[in-house]
Amino acid sequence: MATPTQSDIDRLAALAVPAGKLLIDGKWLAGEAGETVVLSPINGQKLTTTAAASAGDVARAVASARASFEAGIWSRMPPAGRKAVLHRLADLIEKNSLELAVLGVRDNGTDIGMALKAEPGSAAGTFRYYAEAIDKVYGQIAPTADNILALIHREPVGVVAAIVPWNFPLMVGAWKIAPALAAGNSIVLKPAETACLTLLKLADLALEAGVPPGVFNVVTGPGRVTGEALALSMDVDVMVFTGSGPTGRRLLEYAARSNLKRCYLELGGKSPNVVFADAPDLAAAAKAAAMAIFRNAGQVCVAGSRLLVETSVHDEFVSMLAVSAEKMLVGNPLSLATQIGAVNSDVQLQGNLGFVSDAVKEGGEIVLGGKRTLLETGGYYMQPTVVTGVRPDHRLFREEVFGPILAVTPFRDESEALRLANSSDFGLASGVWTSNLSRAHRMVRGIRAGVVHVNTYGGSDNSVPLGGVKQSGNGHDKSLHALDKYTDLKTAWIQL
Ligand code: ADP
Repeated sequence: MATPTQSDIDRLAALAVPAGKLLIDGKWLAGEAGETVVLSPINGQKLTTTAAASAGDVARAVASARASFEAGIWSRMPPAGRKAVLHRLADLIEKNSLELAVLGVRDNGTDIGMALKAEPGSAAGTFRYYAEAIDKVYGQIAPTADNILALIHREPVGVVAAIVPWNFPLMVGAWKIAPALAAGNSIVLKPAETACLTLLKLADLALEAGVPPGVFNVVTGPGRVTGEALALSMDVDVMVFTGSGPTGRRLLEYAARSNLKRCYLELGGKSPNVVFADAPDLAAAAKAAAMAIFRNAGQVCVAGSRLLVETSVHDEFVSMLAVSAEKMLVGNPLSLATQIGAVNSDVQLQGNLGFVSDAVKEGGEIVLGGKRTLLETGGYYMQPTVVTGVRPDHRLFREEVFGPILAVTPFRDESEALRLANSSDFGLASGVWTSNLSRAHRMVRGIRAGVVHVNTYGGSDNSVPLGGVKQSGNGHDKSLHALDKYTDLKTAWIQL
C-alpha cells in the first residue's frame, strides 16, 4: 500500500465508531452482560461501546463453533478450498488496511506508522502464509512391519478458543486465527476489553471472504466474565492465549477445573539486550536498543527491557542511547510524525509510573524521562524512561512493565553477562551485540530464551517460530510449527 497522507488518516479518524456487537453463528448480537465503554487512549474520551458477553453468550458461541465443526462445512473442506477463502480474507485486509490501522490506533494508541506495518500488513501476510501452507502439509506412513500399514493423519482439533491482548490485536490475533482456521478448526475469539475493534472488523471481513457462519465467532467482554466462561467451557478443545502471567496461571486452573483443554500460553518477558564493548557499531547498537524498548511505548512482548552493558562502555553507551531516545517524538499516535504513541489505558499508565517510583526507592537512577507527559490532551502518554543502576533484586529487573521503561545493568565479563541475562523467571526474547563470532554463538547457546537476536534486535518473519521458555509460556506462534497446536495426530493401524 502507498504511504497514506495525513489527510487520509484524519478523514478516517473523524468517523464515528459504531457500537461493537458479538459475532455468534454468523449473526451480530448484543451481549447479555451489557456493554463496555471504550475510551480512546489518545484523549481519554469515549470512542464507542462494545458488547459484554455473558456465560450464556459464550456457551452459545462455543456451541455454534462445535456445530459448524461437526457439520464439516469448513473442517472437511479440501485444504485448497480453505486456502482460497483465506487468500480472499488477506485481500480484504489489504483493501481495508488504512481503515483497520486508523481504527486500531484510536482504540489502542499504537503510532500509525507502526500500526500500518505491524497490524493489517502483518495480519494479511499471516493469513497468506497459512493459506499457502495448508495444502502442502502431508500425513505420514510409519515404518512398521511389512504386514501392517500405519498411517499418521493430522486432523483439526475441533473448537479452538483464542484469548488475545490489547497490544497488536490484529497481528497477534492473526498468529492464532490464521493457522487455526487453515487447519480446519472452528474458533471462538475473545479480544481484550481495550482493543476489540479491529478484530470485530476482521471477523466481518472473514464472513465476507466466505468463512462459513459459526466457524469464526467473537465474544467481547471483561476477562473475569467472558474470558473466564470461555476458559471454563467443557467443549473447547484447545485454548491459545497471549497476555499476562497471572491470567495464564488462571487459564491453567480453569482447564484443570473443566475439561483439561490443552492450553498454549504466551506470557511476555523481561528480555535482556546484552551489549559487549566489542559490538561492531556501538552507536548503531544504542539506537537499536532505544527502539527495542520504546517502540509502541514498550508495549511489546519481546521488548528489550533489560539492557546489560559491559562496564568499560556503560556510560558512553547509556548517553548515546539517551540521546536517541530523547529525539523520539511522543505524541498523538494518529500523526505520521509520532514515533511513540499512547499508553493503552490509564491503568497501564499508573502501573508504569509505579514501577518508576519503586525503581528510585530501590536505588535506581533515572537518567531520562520518568514522567507522564502531554497531560493537556487527556490521553495517556509517558516519556521514554531510562533507569541505570538496576540490580537483579530490583523489581524493575524482575517484573515485566509493558511500558516505555528501560532497566540498565552493568556487567564485567561474558560469564557475568550470561548469568545476568538468565537471572529471570522469563525467557521470551534477547539480544547480543558483539563482533566476536565465538562469543556470539556461546551466548546464543547459553541464553534461555525463544529467540536470541545477534547484532540487531526484534527482526522476525512468518517462517520463524515465536514462543518462550520458563514463565514466558509454551508453544509457538508463527511458522509451520504453530500448526502443531491446531492439529491432532491420529494413527490408522491397518492389518494387511
Ligand atoms: P493485561 O494485564 O496485559 O491486560 P491480561 O492477561 O489481563 O493482560 O489480558 C489478556 C487477555 O486476557 C484479555 O483478553 C483479557 O480480557 C483476558 N483475561 C483477563 N483475565 C482473564 C480471566 N480471568 N480469564 C480469562 N481471560 C482473562
